[in-house]
Amino acid sequence: MEKYIDLKNTADYSSLEKAAQIIRSGGLVLFPTETVYGLGANGLDEMAVKKIFKAKGRSSDNPLILHISDFNMLNDIATDISEIEHKLMDAFWPGPFTIILNRKPIVPNSVTASLDTVGIRMPSNEIANKLISYSGVPIAAPSANISGKPSGTNISDIFDELSDKVDCIIDGGNSLVGLESTVVRVIDGIPTILRPGKITPEDIKKVVGKVQIDKHIFSKLEDGEKVLSPGMKYKHYAPNSKCILVYSDNNDLLVNKIIEISSSYKTPLILSTSENVQKYEGNLVIDIGSKYNLDEIAKNIFTDLRKVDKFNPDIVIVEGVKQDGLGLAIMNRLIRACSHNYIEL
Ligand code: AMP
Ligand code: MG
Repeated sequence: MEKYIDLKNTADYSSLEKAAQIIRSGGLVLFPTETVYGLGANGLDEMAVKKIFKAKGRSSDNPLILHISDFNMLNDIATDISEIEHKLMDAFWPGPFTIILNRKPIVPNSVTASLDTVGIRMPSNEIANKLISYSGVPIAAPSANISGKPSGTNISDIFDELSDKVDCIIDGGNSLVGLESTVVRVIDGIPTILRPGKITPEDIKKVVGKVQIDKHIFSKLEDGEKVLSPGMKYKHYAPNSKCILVYSDNNDLLVNKIIEISSSYKTPLILSTSENVQKYEGNLVIDIGSKYNLDEIAKNIFTDLRKVDKFNPDIVIVEGVKQDGLGLAIMNRLIRACSHNYIEL
């Protein structure tokens, strides 16, 4: 069977029946969602789920998100859902929003890393939605990338690292959002953001009147410290070279600091917002997009981080953005990409 299904320029989704058959029979499928690409398997099949961990080199204590296509599937896997949790799902599904709920026993331990909760999302991407409904089971899927690398937001970025490890590749073009979903758990009645994403704290507050942000979104873990979302522990999104993230509200200070750092290296590479690109003349620069268009930066940031490795620089200096709205999610990914090597002026 042809492994590759091209759905970039068609609305004829009949070929997804084949992919759904692969999911049902325990195989692995690379598929698009509106956030990033997913590496999916039947979320109720323990053996199939284990293949995901193996393919990614993912630690088994880092749980997966179950992707559903409708509310009937929700009731098969989650229980004791509160009114506030219902409100959040109604507001943000389908879309880039994951909620942590109490799980039913049918969900395999390998999906939840043996926690008594499960992360659930209903994607809005039509290909993802059809694939799940044709499969008839929730699809467990982490981001499509080898663990530690930037998440895949188009097939060409991840083809080399994953094509041999999957049974089917569905190409749906570039991911719309470009960052993984916002992960929320309601704790003592308060929605708590465990991973920031396209759905911002302000969006959540508008729906239920309150929100809090888990402190580990930015801080480094102390030894032995417990986290609510095991994914927070892991090195993530990192290029091969050493990276440093720099930010200031004062643009002159920011640019001068970056020039100062770059001058003490032989082959620096700067990831710059469009507004500042010309200020780094003489250096190797990748334009990450306008600081006035955070949607554009989010959409391209993982591809930009992947481009870095082609140049093998001795330092990568990344311009940060203001931590407002979507800026919170962008900075969360960049801080991890830079292994918490962060200067704020
Ligand atoms: P990824 O698979 O790369 O999108 O990452 C999924 C994220 O969701 C990771 O940070 C996980 O730790 C988090 N997650 C999944 N399930 C749970 C859960 N039951 N409780 C807390 N966090 C979860
Ligand atoms: Mg991931």
